[in-house]
Amino acid sequence: MLNSPRLSTLSGYWNGKFQRGETQNYFEVYNPATHEKLATLPEMGAQEAEAAVDSAEAFLAGDYDLEWRKKWLLEIAAALSTHRVEMGQIITLENGKPPVEALAEVDYAAAFYRDAAQRIHHLAPQTLPTRPRNMTWRIYHRPAGVAALITPWNFPLAMLAKKLSGAIAAGCPSVVKPSELTPLTAIAFFALLDELGLPAGLVNLVFGDAPAIGQVLCARPSVQVISFTGSTAVGRLLAAQAAPQLKRLSLELGGNAPFILFEDGDIDHAVGQLMANKFRCAGQTCVCSNRILVQANALDAFLQRLKSSVSQLRWGPGLDDYDIGPMINAAGFEKVQRHIQDALDKGAELIVGGPIADASKGHYCQPTVVLGGADDMLCLHEETFGPLIVVRAFDDEAEALRLANDTEYGLAAYLFSQDSARLERVARQLHFGHVGLNTATGPTPEAPFGGMRNSGLGREGGLEGLMEFIEVQTCPVGEP
Ligand code: ADP
Repeated sequence: MLNSPRLSTLSGYWNGKFQRGETQNYFEVYNPATHEKLATLPEMGAQEAEAAVDSAEAFLAGDYDLEWRKKWLLEIAAALSTHRVEMGQIITLENGKPPVEALAEVDYAAAFYRDAAQRIHHLAPQTLPTRPRNMTWRIYHRPAGVAALITPWNFPLAMLAKKLSGAIAAGCPSVVKPSELTPLTAIAFFALLDELGLPAGLVNLVFGDAPAIGQVLCARPSVQVISFTGSTAVGRLLAAQAAPQLKRLSLELGGNAPFILFEDGDIDHAVGQLMANKFRCAGQTCVCSNRILVQANALDAFLQRLKSSVSQLRWGPGLDDYDIGPMINAAGFEKVQRHIQDALDKGAELIVGGPIADASKGHYCQPTVVLGGADDMLCLHEETFGPLIVVRAFDDEAEALRLANDTEYGLAAYLFSQDSARLERVARQLHFGHVGLNTATGPTPEAPFGGMRNSGLGREGGLEGLMEFIEVQTCPVGEP
């Protein structure tokens, strides 16, 4: 276990202090690289969630101006930058990603707070430049209410940053519910916030029995925003639970990203982009390319370069700085193995890698490339969330579009071609919220990011990310 001063109190946080409520239940957190037990934590539930919401609700009574919020956002960004190595080590320890990726995640998280501070002036009240009905009209950006922030394990610090930066900028107090697989990063982050002296109630933390906590967050009327990143199944459940009170939903759900290389695309560049995109967090990100579509004339050259690049990847325990760490847990490992075996059973050709039978030394998956196979292969329809690349050939633009859009998801897509008119034409017909044109980069704090169709609702990053936590109030001003 990492000897971090920021992990000395392993509990939740509300009313401005670390506490755990009355629970007598516990759960354990493991290092996915070694299966070593990292910590035993209190399993909090409905009662503790109620207390955390009470704490946030009390904060709502105050009126905190934009300069005040900006100051805290900048202080949080600075604290993350100061403690980046320690935070990075905690991320690697409980998530398994290599240190270089963990450090990049800390920097990425800090950038969300900094960026929200820089654009917060857009939330200032506005007065219409015209006078409809011979009156002054003022538009205010009010905090929507308490924000419930439910986050996943693949970016334990950054996914929280995307939400919390927007909530703080908007003036909303938050109740944070991190993944039970990676709660230590959130605890250490809250220790940083505690050291900064954030006012009681602005940030609150609870974890343990996720369904029980989720029910409280959806039921309490003061919680007006449910911001969730995770599976489509849980997103749908939260939407149903929040429906009776018509709460605002911001949902970043699953993806099934197509990566399309046209015959006029730069193959070396495309392969480089795919390697960086696909193997980040061992393939466990929602913007990882899941279906590689290559125009038939470019297929041989593409495969040759891809095979050579993938063969050079090293996988092993994160702290030893390998390229690819372990899967988060046994279920993640088994899903990847199932997808590889299913593809091979359904006629796909193995280009490099393959299944791994023995997970006793950690849930490591070999980076694997398969070619072709049947239309009903699992890896084409479900997000593999692991280092499996499936390559399929297409003949023309229409076929590429049909294959790419043949999914219920609509998060990220990537196009490679040197014909800018084609890029524009194809992007317009793709039902995805993020479309990389000759790049497979993911989101950045400065721009809105989010999914279409079953990949979610709302946007994170950019001004849109702040507006998720804002209720607009319009005040026409009559004569006294
Ligand atoms: P994954 O399968 O990637 O872990 P999940 O959607 O299960 O994705 O989890 C994402 C987040 O949602 C985690 O913080 C998890 O604890 C939380 N979660 C899971 N089920 C529920 C639920 N019923 N209500 C509220 N939160 C939940």
